Amino acid sequence: MSIKPITIAVHGGAGPMSDRININKTGYEEALKQALEAGHTILKKGGRATEAVEASVRIMEDHPLFNSGHGSALNSNGEIEMDAAIMDGTDLCWGGVALVRRVKNPVSLAAQIMRNRKHGLISGSGAETLAVQSELQVVPESYFITAHQYGIFLEQQQKRSGIERIPDNHGTVGAVALDAMGNIAAATSTGGAEYAIPGRISDSCLIGAGCYADNATAALSCTGDGEYIISHVVAYTVAMYRKFTGCALQEACEYVVHKRLKDVKGDIGLISLDTNGNLGIVYNSERMHHAWITRDSKVHIRYK
Ligand code: ASP
Repeated sequence: MSIKPITIAVHGGAGPMSDRININKTGYEEALKQALEAGHTILKKGGRATEAVEASVRIMEDHPLFNSGHGSALNSNGEIEMDAAIMDGTDLCWGGVALVRRVKNPVSLAAQIMRNRKHGLISGSGAETLAVQSELQVVPESYFITAHQYGIFLEQQQKRSGIERIPDNHGTVGAVALDAMGNIAAATSTGGAEYAIPGRISDSCLIGAGCYADNATAALSCTGDGEYIISHVVAYTVAMYRKFTGCALQEACEYVVHKRLKDVKGDIGLISLDTNGNLGIVYNSERMHHAWITRDSKVHIRYK
């Protein structure tokens, strides 16, 4: 029997609108719905919030429209480097991976690291060795590269020979969930910033920045310009503002993004959830693909 109102929300990245996004409106909506349902099915069966957010994020990692897993952005060498993190609000255990190039579902490797309880954040070849040892799927780098992302790489290669700044598209994915036991969890996964310097690590795998969960405050997953999200430790700041003011979660989200960070010249978006099933959703960008299922099982989907 469900003692808490199981709830789940997902996002597929905050950033500027584009013709491509409008053309693929149905594709985004269907993918968000699938991701939502994957996590919700687990919650309905009494599964854990950590399992639900992992399942939701995996669906989006496998989907070419998002900048995570298959569909990841390319760095300035034309290579894939993916980051992900997951956190359990029950005990503050977490796992993260940075700069992985061949792990099909980086969020599952992060979850494996969380379950191992030995280390937190593992990068590069060490992370990939662990993926093989854990019998997670490892695929050739070509699997991740879509025609769309390769096109962006070629375009940026030409333009960035100068100093022109090209706005990033952002399509990082994330999920937050509340299970029937009353526990919350968050997960975030990204292919990183387009045309980034090789070795650049995003906010998505950094606890407190792009991902955070604590039953005492909230579960949060962020998206947008990672450097700003790290500077302002966005996920943790929202959680702490909420904790110390006692305000509603939505109010905390809006205060941090629209007031405290109003002068930040970058995109910031986030989804969040507390143990009572209250959601907080905010973004300062033209769009943030996101969706959620409320306690009455109603599905809400916003592609922008
Ligand atoms: N936060 C991600 C990064 O900086 C990008 C995104 O959210 O789309 O790599």
